[in-house]
Amino acid sequence: MTHIHPIPILNDNYAYVIENTGQAAVIDPGEAPPVLTFLKERGLTLTHILCTHHHGDHIGGVTELKAITHASVIGPAAEQERIPGMDKLVRENDTFTILGQEFKVLETPGHTRGHICFYAPSLKAAFTGDTLFSLGCGRLFEGTAEEMWESLQKITALPDDTLIYCGHEYTESNARFCMSVEPDNQVLAARMTEIKDLRAAGKPTLPVTLSSEKACNVFLHANKSARFAELRALKDSF
Ligand code: ZN
Ligand code: FE
Repeated sequence: MTHIHPIPILNDNYAYVIENTGQAAVIDPGEAPPVLTFLKERGLTLTHILCTHHHGDHIGGVTELKAITHASVIGPAAEQERIPGMDKLVRENDTFTILGQEFKVLETPGHTRGHICFYAPSLKAAFTGDTLFSLGCGRLFEGTAEEMWESLQKITALPDDTLIYCGHEYTESNARFCMSVEPDNQVLAARMTEIKDLRAAGKPTLPVTLSSEKACNVFLHANKSARFAELRALKDSF
């Protein structure tokens, strides 16, 4: 059995540990200590480190984790110079198998030029980094609204029951923004209740199904990139 564990790190980031029969992979370890503690507690051997993009809050723990565990680092070819210690560079539509599961690479520029997402069909899981958040999307640091919008279309083309594992716990503030844009969206209102309950219980609001995001995430309701750009600018000053 394969399990995916969200590990809260830094202020509001998640690293995700994928566990399968004593072995593990980690996505976006922004710092090493909480990941090492988790691996130790469960007696797991880290075999792979996956990186979605070069920002420090996603790769800050890579060097230390690699030094201690000798895990192999997989990340975007387009950010080769900006992520330390990469052993395998991946591009659009590449596939690789780790922990007995196949992963497919989606190039999703917008937040950074080389941002990628990892999709594991057998796990019904997509690791979306800072591209798609629950009820939001990443800021446009290195790309255009058009690029981000196209990147989001790639993610929404995945099956509706795909579980979205994103890089940050921004869900509650994102939900407030979505409600300001779509005050009459009843599915969104129900998701807000669920989010508040989860946070009050100290639990992550992730993963979330793609179908829930399609119903509630206003950035996915932009029917063209101009509307998307408008929403992204509105959210920047929300
Ligand atoms: Zn980022
Ligand atoms: Fe981030």
